[in-house]
Amino acid sequence: MSENLESLSHDPRDLEQFRKYGHQLIDWIADYHSHPENFPVLSQRQPGDIQKQLPDEAPQQAESLDQILKDAEDIVVPGMTHWNHPGFMAYFSVSGSPTGLLGELMAAAFNVNAMLWKTSPAATELEQVVLDWLRKAFGFPETFFGAIHDTASTSTLIGLIAAREAVAEVDVRKKGLSDGPPLCVYISDQTHSSVEKAAIIVGVGQDYVRTIPSDDEFRMDINALEAAIKADVESGHRPFVVVPTIGTTSTTSADDVEAVADLAEKYNLWLHVDAAYAGPLAMLPEMRHHFTGCERADSYVTNAHKWLFTQIGCSILYCSKPDVLKRALSLVPEYLKTQEEDEVVNYMDYGVALGRRFNALKLWFVLRSFGVEGLQALWRKHLEMAQQLRRWVEAHPDFEMLAPTPFSVVCFRAKPSDWSGSENALDELNNQLMHAVNRAGKVFFSHTRLKGHLTLRMAIGHLYMETHHVQTAWEAVTKELQHLLKK
Ligand SMILES: *Cc1c(COP(=O)(O)O)cnc(C)c1O
Repeated sequence: MSENLESLSHDPRDLEQFRKYGHQLIDWIADYHSHPENFPVLSQRQPGDIQKQLPDEAPQQAESLDQILKDAEDIVVPGMTHWNHPGFMAYFSVSGSPTGLLGELMAAAFNVNAMLWKTSPAATELEQVVLDWLRKAFGFPETFFGAIHDTASTSTLIGLIAAREAVAEVDVRKKGLSDGPPLCVYISDQTHSSVEKAAIIVGVGQDYVRTIPSDDEFRMDINALEAAIKADVESGHRPFVVVPTIGTTSTTSADDVEAVADLAEKYNLWLHVDAAYAGPLAMLPEMRHHFTGCERADSYVTNAHKWLFTQIGCSILYCSKPDVLKRALSLVPEYLKTQEEDEVVNYMDYGVALGRRFNALKLWFVLRSFGVEGLQALWRKHLEMAQQLRRWVEAHPDFEMLAPTPFSVVCFRAKPSDWSGSENALDELNNQLMHAVNRAGKVFFSHTRLKGHLTLRMAIGHLYMETHHVQTAWEAVTKELQHLLKK
């Protein structure tokens, strides 16, 4: 980049430098997205390495954009774990798309606070329209009212806040929880930690979070769920919310939402469904069966920033009882009153945060630039790649599958055919295998623990991932195992 040590003008009449660097940065981004493989997927930095390279105090004088961009290249880029790298198979693939990126850029350009309809009508109405498009594409009823929040953790918190508001026996809004019976939350042993965290935040307390065991396929045991609800009713507790998951975090198992919904109805519980990762696949007719019963949800969360190619900070919460949600969370001071409040949605009434980003814009860019058919084709490709990897694992004498693969995460471990060591030693072998492959920088995958076994977990679903990337990952694992066994 050219040597220009003058700082950038912040004068709106003089944005020529801004224009120049803006073009440069877009070129840099296009190069980066064309070749994310030029970088090791997992950052090779050690703790503290980045801080050491940065000054202790903010600069007193303005610095030039040349200097800032150079430091971004030299200090920030090597300190990144590259989620854009198609070898990124850890956790869940969270891959934004180039069009989502442009939507994000445009939203940053407007920099509105979409708390009220009035503070940016297009932000509110685009959010309503885009979430209604998705609602229809997912096959959900008209009663589902959608809102965008930053993460599934926040969406789930809001779902639990609404659930708590719906409990007739307590007036939480006025009196808090002190004068009511203990409220109980039902999850499974595969439920994401965000639900328990939400239970802590809404004042339920961890002692009242009931963890229902899951079956051989990691699905919530329905009989055990009913038994737990009954026992709580009998001891004077108030079961108030149950949270089935479609696409659990460890194995992507899908709970039987229909059966859970029957129990929720029978015992008057709020039904909150967590489909943070798998939710977008309700748009695939052949996957729709996993979502049976979701149309009965009181609240339902899915993340556009996971498998819907939208930049992070885009979680969708549908609620079929928006009046309850509003009763729980609306609090309008004089200075935020508006004339048209009876005719419009003011999204601040339906969330925890007052200020809201214009996140619907990037989602609109994404949905329009892929089209439903474009998205479906990508998901089918991802699902097929996962099945391919599963077949490779199953066919290999030194590996075994540890869970079914209903979506695109493959859970397996190395278990050499002539293995005679202990289970602990096998865990250690798999642990070493994972770290050795990850250190090499071509692939990054993570682990979980299933039925006591350390489990390797490869998540497919990256926008830039092709079959050869999966093959590279699999070869890295099999070669490294041979290497470790020789030692
Ligand atoms: C990722 C995930 C979450 C948490 O999502 P955030 O948006 O990071 O808060 C919750 N539940 C499930 C099933 C997930 O996959």
